[in-house]
Amino acid sequence: MNGITVTNRSNLNPHITVIVPAFNEAEAISSTVANIAHHLLQLSQHWDIVVVDDGSRDQTASVVRSLPAKLNTTLVRFSRNFGKEYAITAGLENANGDIVICMDADGQHSSELLVEMLEKWREGYDMVYAVRQDREVESSFKRWGSKIFYGTMSLGGQINIPPDAGDFRLMDRQVVNALLSLPERNRFMKGIYAWVGYRSIGIPYIPLPRSHGESAYSKLKLIQLAWTGITSFSVMPLRLASAVGASLAFFAFIYGIYVVIDRLFFHESVPGWPTVVASMMFFAGVQLLFIGILGEYLARIYDEVKGRPSYIVAEIAKPNIEKAASKPKAFKSPIIKAVEKDLLS
Ligand code: UDP
Ligand code: MG
Repeated sequence: MNGITVTNRSNLNPHITVIVPAFNEAEAISSTVANIAHHLLQLSQHWDIVVVDDGSRDQTASVVRSLPAKLNTTLVRFSRNFGKEYAITAGLENANGDIVICMDADGQHSSELLVEMLEKWREGYDMVYAVRQDREVESSFKRWGSKIFYGTMSLGGQINIPPDAGDFRLMDRQVVNALLSLPERNRFMKGIYAWVGYRSIGIPYIPLPRSHGESAYSKLKLIQLAWTGITSFSVMPLRLASAVGASLAFFAFIYGIYVVIDRLFFHESVPGWPTVVASMMFFAGVQLLFIGILGEYLARIYDEVKGRPSYIVAEIAKPNIEKAASKPKAFKSPIIKAVEKDLLS
């Protein structure tokens, strides 16, 4: 336990809220929610689920609206797609639980893990994150990409992001309040979780295969996310710029002395315009690169000072028993029927 004293919470009966960011998950969402509800029933008497529809272009929102009221599911619908990081933030803002757990809508995060997460919370941990163990079966792009990313982040040295821990995690109310107290608009959640600190522990898991459709994260989106993470939580690229600038200047100075000595004492003329052209191009390239990096940080500052809200909520639909009763019969998957039976018995 890293020498930290932890509070024992074994007698508490916490309210658990599970938040589920969903983008084009109409096919998967009802069985994911039913499955989560099924497990929550065994964990606590007080629980609810918040699905954040991140501007889906399919029927995700209407599927969630028509879920049986007994699944205790609130829908928060964005006015457009803002991205998973913002969907999680909105979920945290709309969660009432003493404990909040974040899970994907595509069924990749196994509800079986909830028992273990809750056990760790009872032992006194404030944040319990799932650490994926399946990197070796991933594409070499993702494997190497994540190595480079975590390597760069740890070089920055400001925060310690545990490798391979994603958004699948349990958070105590204290942690949720701390996360919500951060005003920044560039919400790189992995960094923010690490930044707030608290007693945290990882538990291993292997993600299940996606129940429907494809991952929303293309290679380009992953690179963008990694770059946002690096520029939001590390000043390493700026330091690198200064270090490269300083060493180039040093070598240029030494070379200058050499040229002068060579001219004065050994040769009549200084030969070689190709050297001049090549080095000019090189230095121009280095300068542009670092101006670009400066621009990235400037863009982050620009985003923050504009002071716009991070996302816009178009609708919040609470579970409503009367509404559900008067609705025409919606399609119910076998798993929803099983959970309803559970709830009624
Ligand atoms: N997601 C989201 N907004 C987006 C992209 C994804 O809310 O713009 C949700 C998605 O519905 C899923 C979770 O984030 O619940 C993880 O996305 P995905 O499965 O596409 O990513 P992967 O599992 O490959 O990391
Ligand atoms: Mg997924």
